[in-house]
Amino acid sequence: MHLKNSKIIVIKIGSSLIVDNKKKIRKKWLSSFAKDIQKLKSKNKKIIIVSSGAIALGCKKMNYNKSNLKLDKSQAIASVGQIELMNLFSQTFSKLKINISQILLTLDDTEERRRSINAKRTFENLFKLDYIPIVNENDTIATSEIKYGDNDRLASRVAQITNADTLILLSDVDGLFTKNPKLFKDAKLIKKVSNLDKDIKKIYIKGVTEFGKGGMNTKIEAAKICNLAGCNMIIANGLYLNPIQQIEKKNICTLFESRISKLHARKKWIISSVSPKGTLVIDDGAKKALVGGKSLLAAGIINLSGKFNKGDHIKILDTKNKEFARGLSSFSSEEINKIMGCHSNEIEKKLGYITKSEVVHKDDMVEV
Ligand code: GLU
Repeated sequence: MHLKNSKIIVIKIGSSLIVDNKKKIRKKWLSSFAKDIQKLKSKNKKIIIVSSGAIALGCKKMNYNKSNLKLDKSQAIASVGQIELMNLFSQTFSKLKINISQILLTLDDTEERRRSINAKRTFENLFKLDYIPIVNENDTIATSEIKYGDNDRLASRVAQITNADTLILLSDVDGLFTKNPKLFKDAKLIKKVSNLDKDIKKIYIKGVTEFGKGGMNTKIEAAKICNLAGCNMIIANGLYLNPIQQIEKKNICTLFESRISKLHARKKWIISSVSPKGTLVIDDGAKKALVGGKSLLAAGIINLSGKFNKGDHIKILDTKNKEFARGLSSFSSEEINKIMGCHSNEIEKKLGYITKSEVVHKDDMVEV
């Protein structure tokens, strides 16, 4: 199974895995899931969990019925339930000495470049600190216009911004079927989808939709986002104990295989930017380093024009003012003005805070 080669894995769990239909918390299941996470950690995998359940647990605590809640009330209830959810994770995971953190995201946090880079850095720092981020939508402030709407979409965006290798959507079905398996006995599980647009046309999606909160359509949308980012996606049944080990052992699931590499996907996206926000002119030494596959450091920059934020697209020119690369700047133009020409160990003093030393990372750069 693909997990063996995956370094960063995002796992999404739906509310129905946390609370059953009799409103009982599935503690035994969560403990088995924690064991799966421990096992993945022992293999040096970096894990992000996207968990629903804030509204379900809030309703349980406050005695409300989830099905007929208005949005504003569910926002208030989510703020109560989110604490319950995290307490549940904290109690369960601390037994196995797994550290956890909470990240609540709103649509703009992944859709807007600058904010998504900030979020990405937080994820990376948590990995370094050996804490597992547990993500949910910031339901208490998200209204319909600024909402992901379902955690399938949220999880795919998280996978995209963190450059994950695999996203696992733990659902209440074994995967994607040729027809709705609850209605048709001859429905077959599709093990692998390697050409999403083509393969999906062969499936009678309409009859296959109504499972879980997001349904099968949102899962397919999530697969599109992942696959374009070079990330594989798996839909599997999370109702079993030790759901991740089940996937590895039994391979009962649907794999949406991305046909492009993560790096290729990223570079294609960089090169296709229609309006770079600024330009950097770099010296011959820096150009040589870049052509040799290195990142761009502040020391090699001799000129700057335009006004841009961290994460924006920029052009890179040589001393003859010829464009030879494009990339994403890890600094704003204001910051670059202060650090241009400086050696990396002077950056902190110039800016007054610690940052990374590459102005454009090699993975964020394409030669034109
Ligand atoms: N964010 C919601 C919650 O935690 C759930 C959204 C979903 O399940 O897709 O209750």
